[in-house]
Amino acid sequence: MDTTYLKKFYKKKHDDKINALFLADVISKQEKDVLLNRTLELDSDTANHMIENYVGNYSMPLGVAMNYIIDQEELVVPMAIEEPSVIAASSFAAKIIGSAGGFKTTVTGRMMIGQLTLKAVPNLEVAEQKIKEAKKDILSRANEAHPSIVKRGGGAKNLEVRILTDDTNNNIPTYLSVHVHISTQEAMGANIVNTMMESIAPYLEELTQGKALLRILTNYATECLATSTCVIPAHKLKTGEFSGEEVRDRIIEATQIATIDPYRAVTHNKGIMNGVDAVVLASGNDWRAIEAGVHAYASRSGQYRSLTSWTKNDAGDLVGELTLPLPVGTVGGSISIHPGAKLAHSIMGHPNAPKLERIIVSVGLAQNFAAVRALVTEGIQKGHMGLHARSLAISAGAKGDHIQQVADILKHSKHKNLQRAKNILLNILEEFEK
Ligand code: NDP
Repeated sequence: MDTTYLKKFYKKKHDDKINALFLADVISKQEKDVLLNRTLELDSDTANHMIENYVGNYSMPLGVAMNYIIDQEELVVPMAIEEPSVIAASSFAAKIIGSAGGFKTTVTGRMMIGQLTLKAVPNLEVAEQKIKEAKKDILSRANEAHPSIVKRGGGAKNLEVRILTDDTNNNIPTYLSVHVHISTQEAMGANIVNTMMESIAPYLEELTQGKALLRILTNYATECLATSTCVIPAHKLKTGEFSGEEVRDRIIEATQIATIDPYRAVTHNKGIMNGVDAVVLASGNDWRAIEAGVHAYASRSGQYRSLTSWTKNDAGDLVGELTLPLPVGTVGGSISIHPGAKLAHSIMGHPNAPKLERIIVSVGLAQNFAAVRALVTEGIQKGHMGLHARSLAISAGAKGDHIQQVADILKHSKHKNLQRAKNILLNILEEFEK
C-alpha cells in the first residue's frame, strides 16, 4: 500500500477518493470500476436465496477509516455504518495512536464452543463422570459428523461438563451442560458446531439416560479472544484549554466511572461497538453474534462494566487495552456471496480470521479513545452536529452542492432541526432561481 495517495483523504471528492484507493493499491482496477459505476449491489436473485420473504435490498453507507497501523502494518479499514462521525472519529484516533507506534495485538487460539444441555438426567454426578470417561469417543463422533473441517486441521478438540443449578429455585442442580471445544479454522463455525452437537446428542442421551434439550454453539466465545493495546504519550493528547496530562487523567477517570457504573458502561461500550459493528458488518460477519458475546463478556465479573481499560504508565503515557470475544470468519455465511463483504476483505488485504480479529479489536479501542477523549474535553456535539447537519440537509431535500451549503448555514444556526434546514434550502433555491 502506498499511503502517499491517501493523504487528506477526507478532503477529496467522492470519485477522487475511489481513485486514490486504487492508486494506493488498496483496491483493484475492477473494484475501482464497480465503485465508480455505483454497482456494488447485492443482486436480487442471490438475495432472494439468502433470506425468506425477500422484497428488496436495504443499503448502508460503506466508508473507509484511515491511518491504522496494527502490528506495524498500515491498513485501510472498511466500515459499514449509517451514523455520522464514527469514521471520522476512527481515523482521527488511529492517527494519534499511529503517531505513537500504533496498535499491538494478541489473539488466543480460535476455539468455538458447542453446548449440549441435557434434562431429566437421573443422576447428574454419575452422568458427568460417564461423559468425562467417554470424552475420546464423543470427540471422534463429533468429528465424524463434519470430516471436512478435520481435514482442514480443525475439529472437536476438547470437552467439559458442567452441572447447571437453578438459582431461581433454591439452587437445585437441574441440567447437565456439555461443552465441546471446536476449532472451526477460518469459519465463524455456527453451522459446523451445530452439526456436530446434533450428531452427538443420541450418544450423550444413551450415556446419561437424560434427554437432550439444546444442541447449538454458545455465542459466549470465551475461547476466541482478541486484545489490542496502545501507548499514547501525554503531550499528544493536548487539546484546546486542556493539557495532555489533564486529558489523560480525565480519560482514565471516565473509564473508571464506566467500570463501576453500568449506566455509564453501556454507553461507553456502545461507543466501542460503533467501530466493531461497522467492520463486522462490512466484512459480512454475524454482528448479532458478536454483540451478544461482547456484552456477556462485559458482565463476566457479575456486573456490566467497561470493556476497555485506560491507565498511566511510569513514563506518564496513556495506556489503552481492549479484549473482546471475536468469533469472526473469512469464509461461510454471506462472506463469499455479498459483493460488499468481498470488497471489504479485499480492502483489508484479505486477512485471515485471526488478523481480522486483530483489526476489529483495534478499531474498537480507537473508537473508544476518540469518544471518551471528546466527551471529557470539548464534548461530542460539536463534531456530531456538523455531520448531523448534512443528514438534515439531505432530509430537507437538498441535492448535490446544496447539501454542503445548507449544512454550513445550519451549523451556525441556533436551532439545528429539519424545519430550519428546509427554510435554508428554500432560501438557497430562491437565490438560485433569481
Ligand atoms: P458456513 O457453514 O456457511 O461455512 C463454513 C464452511 O466453509 C465450512 O463448513 C467449510 O466447508 C467451508 N470452508 C471453506 N474454507 C474453509 C476454511 N479455511 N476454514 C473453515 N471452513 C472452510 O458457515 P459457518 O459454519 O461459519 O456458520 C456461520 C453462519 O451461521 C452465519 O451465517 C451465522 O449467521 C449463522 N448462524 C449463527 C448462529 C449463532 O450465532 N447462534 C446459529 C445458526 C447459524 P467444507 O469444509 O465442507 O468446504
